[in-house]
Amino acid sequence: MSNQKINRFILTENEMPTAWYNVRADMPEQHDPLLDPASGKPATVDMLSGIFARELAEQELTTKRYIDIPGPVLDYYKKYRPSPVIRAYDLERALDTPAKIYFKYEGNNTSGSHKLNSAVAQAYYNKIEGINHITTETGAGQWGTALAMACAYFDIDLTVFMVKISAMQKPYRKAVMETYGAKVHPSPSDTTKVGRGMLAKSPDDGGSLGTAISEAVELSVSTENCRYCLGSVLNQVVLHQSIIGEEAYLQMQKAGDYPDYVIGCAGGGSNLGGLVASFMRDKLTGKANPVCIAVEPAACPSMTRGRYAYDFCDVGHVTPLAKMYTTGSAFKPASIHAGGLRFHGMSPILSKLYHDGYLAARSVFQKDVFDAAVLFARTEAILPAPESAHAIRTAIDIALECKESGEAKTILFGLTGNGSFDLTAYMSYLDGEMVNFAPSDEDIEQSLSRLPDMSVYEK
Ligand SMILES: *Cc1c(COP(=O)(O)O)cnc(C)c1O
Repeated sequence: MSNQKINRFILTENEMPTAWYNVRADMPEQHDPLLDPASGKPATVDMLSGIFARELAEQELTTKRYIDIPGPVLDYYKKYRPSPVIRAYDLERALDTPAKIYFKYEGNNTSGSHKLNSAVAQAYYNKIEGINHITTETGAGQWGTALAMACAYFDIDLTVFMVKISAMQKPYRKAVMETYGAKVHPSPSDTTKVGRGMLAKSPDDGGSLGTAISEAVELSVSTENCRYCLGSVLNQVVLHQSIIGEEAYLQMQKAGDYPDYVIGCAGGGSNLGGLVASFMRDKLTGKANPVCIAVEPAACPSMTRGRYAYDFCDVGHVTPLAKMYTTGSAFKPASIHAGGLRFHGMSPILSKLYHDGYLAARSVFQKDVFDAAVLFARTEAILPAPESAHAIRTAIDIALECKESGEAKTILFGLTGNGSFDLTAYMSYLDGEMVNFAPSDEDIEQSLSRLPDMSVYEK
């Protein structure tokens, strides 16, 4: 390969964006508001600040265009950011495609994913408001790790409820969280009422994200100076993740290119919302017209097969109601290997953009995802997280369409994390044991039939 080629488009610390961009400011219509499930009334800052730090409750509701990143958060960002945009020349060559493929890599920190971008912000706002204890849940472990790092830095106690089956499958994740000082309870645990109830009924329960959320919320409301934090779905999280898109936007300028396609995997929608925000700004203001694509697993198809409706964000029904694409909070996704994408709902912002035709969505099967992951690892050196490999799969599919049509399109995708803690998934793929899965229409209908009845709020 010629050494004239530039592979990595980097920003210096001084070129790093100093504000988060709120895509809501440029949306022609806003999503329907979060609702208080007790009254059916729109959530207010006062109500939300019972759950979140006040500044975060305000960010949840604001449509202000830019919000300055606080100095201490920016200082922490500079420990691992700006993250690179990399041109995947060798993947292009392996595919024999005229397309140009770029990716934004968020896996270069100990948490292994983009989740640290919001964890640091959430920990900081809690800290300055005098909160000294945070609770959260974690499924696959990335969010718990990110928040453990952030809480260690700002000297806040952290209790993590980790889905028991994941804690058993991923003991190293638990060890990393504990190294950063977090207290980790496999959930269901005997430390909460919800957990004890579950254990009394079924002592061998492997747990679920819904139970873990309920335990984390129970502990936060029953502990003084304690708040709960969530790593995806919420508007505040999409806002913090806009650092990804704001950097990538400048980096694409340095590359002298503009993406025809912007692609990201979508669990709760935070990395995708963050990456596409800056390009969506051009689309919403008529400056450019990139195609933005959310990629979800066929096993958990919120956008491609779900319904646009009010639903709870958790199985325990303790969270506010959100209008979003959902397969229903009763939906039990198969235990696919991309743990970070096993969520029944989708960010209300992305749901609205999808509903109004600004965002496209596709779903992919996990064996095809791992085919793409392995090709990417072998050509581009980075071992991708299974979640991220959903975006790789779709980038490859579009690059192959370009090969057919002879069009040299420019593709940018988000590589959200590295796969160092996901080797059981790779082993299952390499051993030929991995299976594809998609729920039946009946499965989805059954879960949707249990959506909350909104007529109880009308009178
Ligand atoms: C959590 C996670 C995701 C999915 O979460 P979003 O909120 O949809 O971004 C994707 N990739 C990795 C590596 C994750 O840890």
